[in-house]
Amino acid sequence: LDKKVRQNNWEENNFINYKKMSENLAIVRSRLNRPLTFAEKILYSHLDDPHGQDIERGSSYLKLRPDRVACQDATAQMAILQFMSAGMPSVANPTTVHCDHLIEAQIGGAKDLERAVGINKEVYDFLASACAKFNIGFWKPGSGIIHQILLENYIYPGALLIGTDSHTVNGGGLGAACIGVGGADAVDVMAGLPWELKAPKVIGVKLTGQMSGWTAAKDIILKVAGILTVKGGTGAIVEYFGPGVDTISATGMATVANMGAEIGATTTVFPFNDRMYDYLVATKRREIGDFARSYAKELREDEGAEYDQLIEINLSELEPHINGPFTPDLATPISKFSEAVKANGWPEELKVGLIGSCTNSSYEDMSRAAAIARDAMSHGLKTKSQFFVTPGSEQIRATIARDGQLETFEEFGGTVLANACGPCIGQWDRQDVKKGEANSIISSYNRNFTGRNDGNPATHSFVTSPDLVVAMAIAGSMHFNPLTDKLKDKDGNEFMLAAPSGDALPVHGYDPGQDTYQAPPKDRASVQVQVSPSSDRLQVLSPFKPWDGKDATGCEILIKAHGKTTTDHISMAGPWLKYRGHLDNISNNLLIGAINSANGEANKVKNQVTGDWDAVPAVARDYKAKGIKWVVVGDWNYGEGSSREHAALEPRHLGGLAIVTKSFARIHETNLKKQGMLPLTFSDPADYDKIQPDDKVDILCTELAVGQPITMRVHPKSGSAFDIKLSHTFNEGQLEWFKNGSALNTMAKNTKN
Ligand code: SF4
Repeated sequence: LDKKVRQNNWEENNFINYKKMSENLAIVRSRLNRPLTFAEKILYSHLDDPHGQDIERGSSYLKLRPDRVACQDATAQMAILQFMSAGMPSVANPTTVHCDHLIEAQIGGAKDLERAVGINKEVYDFLASACAKFNIGFWKPGSGIIHQILLENYIYPGALLIGTDSHTVNGGGLGAACIGVGGADAVDVMAGLPWELKAPKVIGVKLTGQMSGWTAAKDIILKVAGILTVKGGTGAIVEYFGPGVDTISATGMATVANMGAEIGATTTVFPFNDRMYDYLVATKRREIGDFARSYAKELREDEGAEYDQLIEINLSELEPHINGPFTPDLATPISKFSEAVKANGWPEELKVGLIGSCTNSSYEDMSRAAAIARDAMSHGLKTKSQFFVTPGSEQIRATIARDGQLETFEEFGGTVLANACGPCIGQWDRQDVKKGEANSIISSYNRNFTGRNDGNPATHSFVTSPDLVVAMAIAGSMHFNPLTDKLKDKDGNEFMLAAPSGDALPVHGYDPGQDTYQAPPKDRASVQVQVSPSSDRLQVLSPFKPWDGKDATGCEILIKAHGKTTTDHISMAGPWLKYRGHLDNISNNLLIGAINSANGEANKVKNQVTGDWDAVPAVARDYKAKGIKWVVVGDWNYGEGSSREHAALEPRHLGGLAIVTKSFARIHETNLKKQGMLPLTFSDPADYDKIQPDDKVDILCTELAVGQPITMRVHPKSGSAFDIKLSHTFNEGQLEWFKNGSALNTMAKNTKN
């Protein structure tokens, strides 16, 4: 384990530290004296203090030393702006930035990319110059989607990586623990501070049997999402094991890991195996594969390791699934899907099929999808629905261009978009239906919350494998089941589509395509970071005010949100993405997607001071201008979805004090704490019903202490005041964040001392 093996082919001086990891593990083993899950091994081998750290799954806070940080362009802006305000000359841990989220799909790859480079010039210039300045690897627009680039270049077995994107978990496909975090967490690690994570529970998923026919790796996670629901993975790492694992390609495992984000899991891990070794070799990392083999004993679970929950799936019996609409955990097996479409009145015509994205754009996915398209064309059929392909990376695009799949998709009637997120994150200038018109689309993406793809709340968005997307696009119907239904060829003869097949890895190797990487220069001192003071897209940050040491009295309730309040509802994506680096401008989207319990409408709340109904951000600004603190009342799993720290920065910027909910999604809860907000939960969730939107509340902040509930005093419009107990998960260190105004203020203060 003493060997010096580089983490990747891009950086000279960053090495894989299996030696240190095994030493740390030996210390933890001697303390715990029990078999460990693989997830635990990765985490505990990265402990900051393996001797002294409290280790209790589900309750202690682990202080960890991640190996790497990765940021996508939308979240990198704020992360780097925050890093800059800490005043350091370069990042303390290896970091990369990836330009993928800001490219809108309009007409096709090359043109859309060119247009995006023009529109986003000042952001790309800022990121490119800041990366050069602070020693960060920069992947230019057109290089591909962050998670695909990470898998192809940076992830190695046993690594602990954090990324400012909730689908960072994708890296689990290569036996690493890759965890989505807010920008503030990334800033901590970029600055060399340990990173804190509540020790996750571990959910084991035992795979047996072998997939065949139309069943794909995607169906494993679609099934698991149906079992666990969007809340079921909260606070847990999902760990796959068992003989079925070896039957899945590394990129297939990445697909399963990717959508672990949809069940709220901290991350997903697969044990290191030969399929991963093959992928490392194919991506020019044989040395890493060999090194991992020498550490293989610790790159899987110990015999007898215990899981907090166990699920078993027999892959031989697994049916293809379609999940949705509006939520990724509404899982329907294909045999029941047509019935479900009828019973629920979902629009029957399939308007658009989309494949690719970070979830499903491997060589295997593209090959299988192209095989189905070719089969249809051999019968004289093309796609009936509109059909879009998003290659996950320049390497994938170049390889499928060389090997013919790309041409197949175009002949089939498809449009190949830029190597970027595109319609997956609402970057889609969709023209075929009007806003508000009910319609169905189906994609091989991961997330299908209301309005996510096209900004149309009436679009019924479903997720499935690329195979089923292609098959259903050929039929143009939500009723089609390729396992049982026939199609008519150009002469009217009936035929069935053949089950898909495709190579897991390209026989002729990957074609790297165009060089899209910018390495940091040797001389970084002379680099100037480019931020224009008049920019409406980038704004240098000023620190938030510290806590005044008093209870907060007479707070207004900005909104009592009802039902799902995801980070998309709190800080919408789509057109707003362009303001990610400008806190004041992006705050104009605060909570505009949340449903007000008072009227069942979005973005219409009563200003309790003026009595007028207005947009949520306008009312928040008015309260702030009048010096009135406010709180949000929320439902279950508030903040589920993404790691977007804007969802926490915006309420703080507009004068919010606390978010009081039935429960939180993990990342969002931490993000709120980092920004100096109070994420609080009803000790008795039934108390949610006792609050009316026009009540005033006092939050007794002076009661804040680790493990102690705090009081919210409710003053109804009529009737007498009453107290409600609220719980929280602050630890000592996090309480300092609240007191100092934010985690960043705390960091700046500690650096000065
Ligand atoms: Fe991009 Fe969609 Fe993947 Fe997020 S989930 S990284 S938006 S492709």
